[in-house]
Amino acid sequence: MVGYSAKCRACNSPHREEIDARLLEGWSTRKVAAWLAEVYGEKISPAGLHRHRSAHLNVLEEAKERLESVRPKFEAAVEKTLDEIRTLDEIAALGLEVARSLTPLIKNPEARVSKARADVWAAALREAREAMRAKHEILEGKKVNVEGSFTGLGELFGLVLGEEASGEVEE
Ligand SMILES: [Zn+2]
Repeated sequence: MVGYSAKCRACNSPHREEIDARLLEGWSTRKVAAWLAEVYGEKISPAGLHRHRSAHLNVLEEAKERLESVRPKFEAAVEKTLDEIRTLDEIAALGLEVARSLTPLIKNPEARVSKARADVWAAALREAREAMRAKHEILEGKKVNVEGSFTGLGELFGLVLGEEASGEVEE
């Protein structure tokens, strides 16, 4: 916690917050003394600022404590976000892979493309695009519910794989 002494000039300065902020930023006591004299015409010696910093300004400890208290939450949030981004990358890659594998067929005017397959192609592209959009939203700090948005994807791939497995390839 931040200390105080009735005898300390820095503690009683009307500019204490600014003094503390500069000391916290790592300014030397000499530099703070010069700044204080120049900007406010207030005279506190470097030695006085030094005493103030070591006796009344426990900001380093305070900042450390604050950091320690938020760190686990912060790390968990970062980890979760990275997981989400990895998942979205995978979804986007899978969607594109599926769409690409079907593209020659879709673009071939000779091929009789089943409605189901055309739907899969469109849906795979849509899901890939959606995953990329969601990823950018996460990176921009917007919230996205990953699980909720992509529940249809499993079915989608099941359909593709099922179709391949049953040998109904139309080429
Ligand atoms: Zn002080």
